[in-house]
Amino acid sequence: MEYNHEHKAERIGWIRAVVLGANDGIVSTASLVVGIAASGVAADHLFLVGLAALVAGAMSMAAGEYVSVSSQTDIERAELALEQQHLDENWTAEVHELATIYRKRGLDSELALTVAKKLMEVDPLGSHARDELGITELAQGNPLQAALFSALSFSAGAALPLITVLLFSVENLIPTIIVISLGSLVLLGGVSAHVGGASKTKAALRVLIWGALAMLVSMGIGQLFEVTV
Ligand SMILES: [Zn+2]
Repeated sequence: MEYNHEHKAERIGWIRAVVLGANDGIVSTASLVVGIAASGVAADHLFLVGLAALVAGAMSMAAGEYVSVSSQTDIERAELALEQQHLDENWTAEVHELATIYRKRGLDSELALTVAKKLMEVDPLGSHARDELGITELAQGNPLQAALFSALSFSAGAALPLITVLLFSVENLIPTIIVISLGSLVLLGGVSAHVGGASKTKAALRVLIWGALAMLVSMGIGQLFEVTV
């Protein structure tokens, strides 16, 4: 029988970013529109509110993701440069450092030293990066690409409540936006859990509860400030 044991961690990185962006877009824009709608503002203003939410949210996602990924990359680069310096200056100490790590993981002393020597023959910096610093290639991202991905997925999510505002009459707008948004949140949560190999029910329930909570709170605040039309 064939041994099929595929892991999904590599795909999860960017899928996580895309799902997170779309989730954010749906929840924040739908909540804002529902909140403003509950205050009794005219329908043509609602579209403008939603559009502003989309643009502001996409920009903020892009900026946040860019800063986060590039500072992470900066930190990793600095760590690797320092490690390379240590390797250049004190090879023997670095061999023993790596051997100690393997000994702590359960190899006996002789084997640990052999493994450390062999791995440092093949890829000195790489072996220290992985086993000493915990830096893998997975974590190294492109900040510009991450920013673009987040902004686009946020916009795609935010477009849902925005299109709903255009298509439905103002009387039914609040329940329609809530149903469409929660429905797509559940779908998105289920799909991402399926791709990542996690529990679909748990993921769907999680986004459903948080999404509903966000919209209810916004609606409550909107009603507090009800304007007379
Ligand atoms: Zn080292």
